[in-house]
Amino acid sequence: MKKIQMQTPLVEMDGDEMTRILWKIIKDELLLPYIDLNTEYYDLGLEYRNETDDQVTVDAAEATKKYGVAVKCATITPNKARMEEYTLKKMYKSPNGTIRAILDGTVFRAPIVVKGIEPCVKNWKKPITIARHAYGDVYKNTEMYIDGPGDAYLVFEGANGEQKKELIHHYDGAGVLQGMHNLDDSISSFARCCFSYALDTRQSIWLGAKDTISKIYDGRFKEIFATIYENEFKEKFEAAGIEYFYSFASCTSSSFSPIVARVMKAEGGFIWACKNYDGDVMSDMVSSAFGSLAMMTSVLVSPQGYYEYEAAHGTVQRHYYRHLKGEETSTNSVATIFAWTGALRKRGELDGNQELMNFADKLEQATLETIESGKMTKDLALITSLENVTVLNSKEFILAIRERLDEIL
Ligand code: NAP
Ligand code: MG
Repeated sequence: MKKIQMQTPLVEMDGDEMTRILWKIIKDELLLPYIDLNTEYYDLGLEYRNETDDQVTVDAAEATKKYGVAVKCATITPNKARMEEYTLKKMYKSPNGTIRAILDGTVFRAPIVVKGIEPCVKNWKKPITIARHAYGDVYKNTEMYIDGPGDAYLVFEGANGEQKKELIHHYDGAGVLQGMHNLDDSISSFARCCFSYALDTRQSIWLGAKDTISKIYDGRFKEIFATIYENEFKEKFEAAGIEYFYSFASCTSSSFSPIVARVMKAEGGFIWACKNYDGDVMSDMVSSAFGSLAMMTSVLVSPQGYYEYEAAHGTVQRHYYRHLKGEETSTNSVATIFAWTGALRKRGELDGNQELMNFADKLEQATLETIESGKMTKDLALITSLENVTVLNSKEFILAIRERLDEIL
């Protein structure tokens, strides 16, 4: 069979631990036999990040700007234990954080839906994609413990000398205090990412905020989304037959709760745009409700149209330590495979490479059909509604997918 050619390189970011092991098997068994794989390789494994003082992460992000599409393996975010384990020169920042800061993107997370792994919300038939605004709010807060009576103020000192001051609270006794912020620029690029991704994937987009309570702060999200929608996306949405839904339309007293009610009763197939904290909480809820973190994909989309695909889970450290001891592992490679297919399909789309897009579809199909035929890793075997299941180890599962792929290609 003639291998599929690629015109433009894909930015390949290798990673750590068990997912690094899976990465190589996926390439060897599911990609290289079929594709003349054209990638620009960056080793984001912690050892090489340390060797390059993390320059490799910056280079990989810059390469993503150059070529447009990247695929990333899960990576370790160093903490104190990792400093010792890898004798690191310093506690490097999370690679995802570094890449996100350079690409200025929004992260979209979607569950991979497969027969036999039923969501616990029984009317959810299609994936629900969470778009999390990954800037500001409580994640960049300033907080204080107040240990006695006094007055707390919100003060802004303008560069032009103008001052604004509002009483937050008069404390009669001890309590807590917090300040947080967001930026028009960041909210605007979040809105543009959301609307573009909605168009790209032909799904409607829902935004929930609490502007009835937080008239200025959450209200700003609502205003910016509405303005950008009206001016830049409304016609395209109408032509595509999708909608932008803001939750105030269904309720006047509270905006976040009606959207939750609407989500719970929906059948899925839409994007839920969330403020930073809501997105953090709701993506965990959605992924566990759909079955497993190992079945969740993640894509970073920048407002300029750069894409970085990865699995939502981490490096599966516990399995890796077992692997190092020579023990068998049954680690689920589905989300990592879907990171590759997502990236290959997008590359194909941008290059007009239909063969590459078809291959991505077939590989996804082969992966899902392998599970539906009862062959799966242990994490899925524990939650499946299928009977007569065969639990495979990490490599056997990938080989079973290859067998199915050869049948359908
Ligand atoms: P994790 O790698 O997501 O794994 C947590 C647990 O979830 C595993 O121990 C395993 O449970 C289960 N699990 C996750 N993915 C699985 C898969 N593919 N197949 C089967 N089971 C799976 O999270 P972590 O152990 O907290 O973090 C490990 C490292 O990953 C950390 O250094 C962290 O910094 C990094 N991390 C990276 C990313 C990223 O690059 N995007 C994201 C999150 C975390 P059992 O052990 O019960 O089988
Ligand atoms: Mg991740």
